[in-house]
Amino acid sequence: MTYELNVAHLYGDLMNTYGDVGNILALNYYAKQMDVKLNVNVVSLDQDFDADQYDLAFFGGGQDFEQVIVSKDIQTKKRALTDFIEDGGPVLAICGGFQLLGHYYVDAKGDKIPGIGALDHYTLSQDNHRFIGDIVIKNEETGETYHGFENHQGRTFLGKDERPLGNVIEGKGNNGEDGTEGAIYKNVFCSYFHGPILTRNGNLAKRLLVAALKRSYPDADLSQQEALPIAATF
Ligand code: GLN
Repeated sequence: MTYELNVAHLYGDLMNTYGDVGNILALNYYAKQMDVKLNVNVVSLDQDFDADQYDLAFFGGGQDFEQVIVSKDIQTKKRALTDFIEDGGPVLAICGGFQLLGHYYVDAKGDKIPGIGALDHYTLSQDNHRFIGDIVIKNEETGETYHGFENHQGRTFLGKDERPLGNVIEGKGNNGEDGTEGAIYKNVFCSYFHGPILTRNGNLAKRLLVAALKRSYPDADLSQQEALPIAATF
């Protein structure tokens, strides 16, 4: 393979609701076709996240129980993760991972679980209710439509410099009120979509891989990678 990318799978042993690990399979599937070898490492409790060592990071969803554990540990990685994000490092964060990149998450019991505030959103709870079901959104800038399944009690409100991943066509999205779903900040893509998101939305997998290649191989001709056709599902 011509290219190599190091992927940090953040808390892959704890944050993996609804098979979010399938996003790693999808990244691998498209990476191979792009002539890219992926080296995936789970970075979990008590392990350093070395921002210089990684080209891409993935952070899956989790239940409240796991989120409390991860919330405490991730504070030790706050500086490195924030540096990586500010430097344009590509990240995909789903549901619980999305929530913990923001300021805080109020869980089903009403407890406020701190995030790292690398992104400017915050997440409130709802009383005895969850947003569950199929969801479809459209990103107005790229024209891309994304399909997924959402299951979350948190209601997320976007902050400064964040754009939604898409506008809700069907489903609830970030908070059921403002029609937004997910977040984009620099090269960070966040969403509530399980499914997993990348197996159903290969164009997003391609977007992440191309962003990682551009940043890690600034002089490479990536026209073949950018032209890769994407299957509807794989
Ligand atoms: N526990 C969080 C919530 O209910 C995240 C759920 C998830 O990652 N699927 O909002």
